[in-house]
Amino acid sequence: MIFTVAIDGPAAAGKGTVGRAVADHFGFAYLDTGLLYRATGRRMLNGEDPIIAANALVPDDINRHNLRTPEITKAASVVAAIPEVRKELVVFQRVFARQSGGTVLDGRDIGTVICPDAEVKIFITASNRVRAQRRYRELRKKGHDMDIGAVFNDIRDRDARDSERSTAPLKPAEDAAVLDTTNLDIADAVNNALQIVKSRLA
Ligand code: C5P
Repeated sequence: MIFTVAIDGPAAAGKGTVGRAVADHFGFAYLDTGLLYRATGRRMLNGEDPIIAANALVPDDINRHNLRTPEITKAASVVAAIPEVRKELVVFQRVFARQSGGTVLDGRDIGTVICPDAEVKIFITASNRVRAQRRYRELRKKGHDMDIGAVFNDIRDRDARDSERSTAPLKPAEDAAVLDTTNLDIADAVNNALQIVKSRLA
């Protein structure tokens, strides 16, 4: 069975949590496409040309390194605005998406550019304030000592870069179901997404 669930949305809206839960529930393969941009950003911070780095990514780039530091997060959204970088990463994502057995991909342009024919498209969002609070708690748990104002500003700047770039900007596909998680806990957000997928599988 070829069946793709495309999940897009801004930073810290819950895409990863929901995407992983949907994949686990249905036994689908899961790809966090942000890791591709983070791995490219990490290589750029080490002095590599980002286009060459995107072309040269190997599984180790994603598996071996901590790609969730604030520096790499920013670098990811910088390299993601380079059209040639995005081009280098398209084929890998499309091949992953159309493997048999069902897949879930989360990112910014999955429903609009990578998989415009995905069987399910979900755009997950939440208010800026709630997203900043979630990311703040996550970073604190990992031992990063940032103040919430700085986290809020980082998220706002990253969303602006992701939404305003000319290639594959962050936006809901016209046929995406919009899931606002501002007032939902994780279990409710996951349940909502499962219902959307189940209705398309039926
Ligand atoms: O999803 P995550 O926060 O890990 O993504 C890091 C950055 O990678 C995003 O801010 C965005 O700039 C970029 N990205 C993208 N397209 C995707 C996934 C991530 O541009 N499909």
